[in-house]
Amino acid sequence: MDGILSEKSLMRDDRVSRAKPAFIADAHLGKLARHLRFGGWDTLYFPSIADGELLNLARIQERILLTRDRGIHLGKGVRLHRLEAEELLPALIELAETFDLADTYDPFTRCMVCNTELQPIEADAVRGKVPPLVSRHFHTFKTCPHCQRIYWPGDHYQRMLEEWKEIFTQVQNK
Ligand SMILES: [Zn+2]
Repeated sequence: MDGILSEKSLMRDDRVSRAKPAFIADAHLGKLARHLRFGGWDTLYFPSIADGELLNLARIQERILLTRDRGIHLGKGVRLHRLEAEELLPALIELAETFDLADTYDPFTRCMVCNTELQPIEADAVRGKVPPLVSRHFHTFKTCPHCQRIYWPGDHYQRMLEEWKEIFTQVQNK
């Protein structure tokens, strides 16, 4: 009996640790939000938003509020993570470590600009909408159904991949 119980609780713990965290970043964390979106984490960000609204969204949508603000008054039922790190990369390392982000990393699945999930789009369908060099060199494209942006695995994508690789390596070596 004990065996079954502990097996069950193990399974439950496993599921909890694999649950993909969703975030809401405060108005000062735009770059951080884009990096999280690139990694596939649902991250709300508004360049201008009142604290009350931020807290409301965090509570209603069960998002982890990310901030460096020491003065923010925490409402009931809000999960908050106050970033210790001042710079972008250390802050991402801090989040990767705190929320086991390596387990739920799913790059190139979410629009970095508006947070919507990307959809694959045929290479033929993007011709004329991306620079000719791009449509000649790339065959994998994704599009954002909300803001219509088109993404391809170019230099920016490679840099982001490298950055996340570095982040996860640093977490592992801690
Ligand atoms: Zn978009």
